[in-house]
Amino acid sequence: MGIVVQKYGGSSLADADAIKRVARRIVENKKAGHDVVVAVSAMGDTTDELLELAAAVSPLPPARELDMLQSAGERISMALVAMAINDLGFTARSFTGSQAGVITDAQHGKAKIIDVTPGRVTQAIGEGHIVIVAGFQGVSQDTKEITTLGRGGSDTTAVALAAALDADVCEIYTDVDGVFTADPRIVPAARKLDKVSYEEMLELAACGAKILHLRCVEYGRRYNIPIHVRSSFSQLEGTWVVEDPTDGGTMEQAIISGVAHDRSEAKITVVGVPDKVGEAARIFTALSEAQINLDMIVQNVSAAATSLTDISFTLPRTDGQVAMEALAKIQAEVGYDKLLYDDKIGKVSLIGAGMRSHPGITAKFFASLASAGVNIGMISTSEIRISVVVNEHEVDQAVRATHSAFDLDADEIEAVVYGGTGR
Ligand code: ADP
Ligand code: ASP
Ligand code: MG
Repeated sequence: MGIVVQKYGGSSLADADAIKRVARRIVENKKAGHDVVVAVSAMGDTTDELLELAAAVSPLPPARELDMLQSAGERISMALVAMAINDLGFTARSFTGSQAGVITDAQHGKAKIIDVTPGRVTQAIGEGHIVIVAGFQGVSQDTKEITTLGRGGSDTTAVALAAALDADVCEIYTDVDGVFTADPRIVPAARKLDKVSYEEMLELAACGAKILHLRCVEYGRRYNIPIHVRSSFSQLEGTWVVEDPTDGGTMEQAIISGVAHDRSEAKITVVGVPDKVGEAARIFTALSEAQINLDMIVQNVSAAATSLTDISFTLPRTDGQVAMEALAKIQAEVGYDKLLYDDKIGKVSLIGAGMRSHPGITAKFFASLASAGVNIGMISTSEIRISVVVNEHEVDQAVRATHSAFDLDADEIEAVVYGGTGR
């Protein structure tokens, strides 16, 4: 039988008992005759705690040291899981991301995997060991420094290993039973999807559904690795992320696959930008040079009297300070009036491949927000997604109203959240 790659998230590894439970689950697969490679996350909320500790020590810690610090969380898990497996009579070998051959670019805190050279992993498999790899980390090809892949990045480690090892499947074990039509912590009536396409899952992940890391889905799609998202706390079949969910069945493509929300973004408004050629280019070049990933962008029509316009955009809150500094440096050159920063926003997105062929989805979405009393700040769309920016404290209301309006609520069963703190 082939190689199975599994990933266990922090909520599945919260304490010593949880680690022993996960070890038993891993061993069951080995007993069934599979070669097993496991990517692990840091225990519980360790990564958040390490970041808080760093903030308490230093107001602006160097990115290199932050990665050294954060990568320690996954190293703790990998060793403990390996120990628990050894106690069950099987041998396990743990490896850091670097030892496992996870090669990345040099961007600390949001490194991209550029290659996986899993020589030590395949050797250990050949020797009959279960392999445990620290997720979320790699080593830069250029600088040889330890890097991390961005929050939630252990999912990407797992799928990248699955691709490099030509595994049959990549199983992502977490604290809910699969991918739901909305975050079950906000919408208990959310329904589990049996299958979802890579395309829709990409939009869900990009819009904040943190059940899967965005680049993990990109990787899965590129290398055609089926991803099975399921609970480590139950034996239930989870959600399969595949190319074509309608393949091999009579299932019809749903119009809407889910509602996602994101509270990790902030909005910057550049006020009083002279309405002339090249100003937007100057602003966005400065942001791109500062390595800021932008999301939505809105430019207002300039006021006739002043020929001045406002440009607003959203970006990860974690990039807020760097972006404000980059823009402050070009104030004289651009000649804008002032900058506004707002991190009390949230984004709510409606996603579904069926939108392509069904008109009226936008109107229904906006009507559901209006009847819930939620004001829309910004709007952006793709072929299979509509996103709005709303006040942060109205996010939950907006998600629930939209979920009901599109008849996504389950009739009876409530979604189970088995563990985790939802951080
Ligand atoms: P792990 O520690 O296993 O990586 P995460 O906290 O990163 O777990 O991801 C699982 C969480 O994702 C769930 O507990 C749930 O609150 C959240 N989530 C957000 N959107 C969804 C969704 N559409 N379906 C399922 N879970 C979701
Ligand atoms: N431990 C990291 C985080 O909390 C990576 C992960 O869990 O996937 O973001
Ligand atoms: Mg996660």
